[in-house]
Amino acid sequence: MPAARRFAALSTSEPPTGQQVLLRQAVVLGGSVAGLMAARVLSDHAEQVLIVERDDLDLPGDEPRLGVPQGSQVHALLPSGLNQLKRWFPGFYEEALAAGAVNPPPRTNRFYLDGRLRQDPPSESPPAALISSRPFLESLIRQRVRALPNVRFLRARAEGLVFEGDAVAGVRLDGGEEPADFVVDATGRSSRLGDWLEANGFPKPEMKRMGIKLNYATALFRRPANPSVWSCISVANPGPGKVARIGGFTPIEGDRWTMLVSGYAGDRPDRDDLDFRRRCVEDFPPEFGEVATTAEQVGEVITYHQADSRRREFHRLRRFPSRLVAAGDAVASFNPVYGQGMTSAMLHASALSEYLRGDPDLARPARSYFADVKVIVDAAWQVSTMADLALPHVDGPYPRGYKAIQWISGRIFKASMRDQRVNQQLGKVTAMLAHPSALAEPRFLARALAIGARSTA
Ligand SMILES: Cc1cc2nc3c(=O)[nH]c(=O)nc-3n(C[C@H](O)[C@H](O)[C@H](O)COP(=O)(O)OP(=O)(O)OC[C@H]3O[C@@H](n4cnc5c(N)ncnc54)[C@H](O)[C@@H]3O)c2cc1C
Repeated sequence: MPAARRFAALSTSEPPTGQQVLLRQAVVLGGSVAGLMAARVLSDHAEQVLIVERDDLDLPGDEPRLGVPQGSQVHALLPSGLNQLKRWFPGFYEEALAAGAVNPPPRTNRFYLDGRLRQDPPSESPPAALISSRPFLESLIRQRVRALPNVRFLRARAEGLVFEGDAVAGVRLDGGEEPADFVVDATGRSSRLGDWLEANGFPKPEMKRMGIKLNYATALFRRPANPSVWSCISVANPGPGKVARIGGFTPIEGDRWTMLVSGYAGDRPDRDDLDFRRRCVEDFPPEFGEVATTAEQVGEVITYHQADSRRREFHRLRRFPSRLVAAGDAVASFNPVYGQGMTSAMLHASALSEYLRGDPDLARPARSYFADVKVIVDAAWQVSTMADLALPHVDGPYPRGYKAIQWISGRIFKASMRDQRVNQQLGKVTAMLAHPSALAEPRFLARALAIGARSTA
């Protein structure tokens, strides 16, 4: 099936149907977004689901936790991810808003491209958004998963897998072993699954990397009840004499704004409040300086460095155990400025559901699952790495036809600033609501190229 159709099937908003119980105990390693979503899916197909998480998840409040160090940074939920949350947890959106997540009033967001403000046509109706801090969103998902009668949590560190022949039969934990007739590795970007496989005579998945050298700094500010600008995003593309920078501020729970300034390579915001303010004033549109110099800062500036985007090529492995899959960042983690990570993890859960609903032969490796995950990873990877390849310090790997694709993408992006139809189609792709091949449809391309050419004239 073409990737675009598969992508459409996986990103469906339709509620799941058919709940055949195939498993006694499914074990999910890692209790963050990917693990929680996988557990929700597995709860339809297993008598018991056990989530193994090394962090203490019973701490009060929704502060960032050690196992998810990126949790203090701005986290945007793409519309496709929101669809999946609504799909798997009916009523989630309303509950999240009631608990404090924010859907800003229409047309109070500002978007700058290369210093120019985009003027949205008045008829445009933006999709509903759900904006919050990352720990807050995760805690809401966790609450819903905790409420499932056949899911339990165990605080432990996963240290390996137990095998019976070529099938996974359990997990090794720091405090002993747990039997499992299906295991999901959702331990994130630093997953050790490859090492565990190798230690048991299986090949390790190849890891593809793109060095991005991304530097983030995030600070929180008090937000008035009705600000004139609720959120603002600024994208400065690289070019002669120009420095690539992305920044943004968005409203979150607790009447706060979370504000990000980022840089690449040697352009490295530090933890100093004055440096943060100076960057807001000098390197970003005036709205940034306005918030950073007039609103009360809450807490410290927190920085984060991500060296690369990476993906593990599970779909290429000729030998792989049965009753085992990986999900979320354990498979692929992207440049976070595109906000794809949590949504990808949610779409992996959708792929898991397709696999388990498809009457799988559990004695064989879950190849159809990994094929579906590849469709999702390819889509996100294409969008994020194509943009990153334009950064002067990024040196590949380049896809075939890179120069032509880059030229076309540039025109589409420019056209999107002037034309609502182009903007909507591009928006669907960046929101992971549509596969990137939607941007290669002949009628769309002709329109975008014509408008893009006029924009550069
Ligand atoms: C700076 C930054 C900003 C980001 N911004 C966005 C954004 O705007 N939007 C977006 O969608 N995504 C964003 N992301 C990506 C997002 O954070 C990840 O894609 C997402 O958290 C992936 O979820 P996960 O469950 O796969 O992994 P993680 O969230 O990393 O969770 C892994 C879990 O596994 C647990 N674990 C690890 N090892 C073990 C073990 N051995 N035993 C038991 N438990 C273990 C950890 O404690 C943790 O709970 C950003 C990432 C970064 C770095």
